[in-house]
Amino acid sequence: MKEEVQLLIDLQELDQHIIKGRKQQEQLRKEQARLAVQADKLRAVIDQLDEQIATVEAECGETSKALALEQENVAKAEARLPEIKTQKEYLAVLKEADTAKKQCKDLQEKIDASQEVLQELQDNRDEKQQQLEELQQNNDSRSNEIEAELVKIDKSLSSEDNKRERLAKKVPEQLRKTYDILLQRRNGVAIVEARRYTCLGCNMHLPPQFFNNMLKHQGLDNCPHCNRLLYIQPQEN
Ligand SMILES: [Zn+2]
Repeated sequence: MKEEVQLLIDLQELDQHIIKGRKQQEQLRKEQARLAVQADKLRAVIDQLDEQIATVEAECGETSKALALEQENVAKAEARLPEIKTQKEYLAVLKEADTAKKQCKDLQEKIDASQEVLQELQDNRDEKQQQLEELQQNNDSRSNEIEAELVKIDKSLSSEDNKRERLAKKVPEQLRKTYDILLQRRNGVAIVEARRYTCLGCNMHLPPQFFNNMLKHQGLDNCPHCNRLLYIQPQEN
């Protein structure tokens, strides 16, 4: 086999490693981003619950104030009763006190209902907060794993990049350019074996004369179908 063929095969093996490593890194970064999004979503839900809780609490505060006022009205009306002289006035004040009492009852019911809602919201918030903490813990530990993995791949890629550079320099420039373009366009497979009249890159049948010529000169050719660089393993044909 010609030297340049072996060089390209070695180069491609290295390139495929590098491509694989970069893809792994990309996947890991995507996973990291997904973890962050999950936590952000949960945080947004908690923020929303906090807003709802604040609104209900404010409403409840207003209602409590109104209740205190009505209770005062009841007390005032009842305090006046002993001093009243006429039956008519007595009944009027009694009615006033009753109306205020009825108001108090309504307001108290409203407060009770609000408290119930508040409790539900608070329980829901506590639950979400716990979920977030658990998620955060898992995310942190997974994120550390991912970071370590990324560093490991970085290291191995940088040493492979160096190796690749040294190897690529040995390939004639024009051939290297062709190889680089094919590697990009043909999904990381630029050079493939031609075996039994077939291109192992695209699996298309090669014209017999073309294949026999390749057998004779044992060099490189382009597949007439996919354009990949073709070589022949002498002993296997
Ligand atoms: Zn082909």
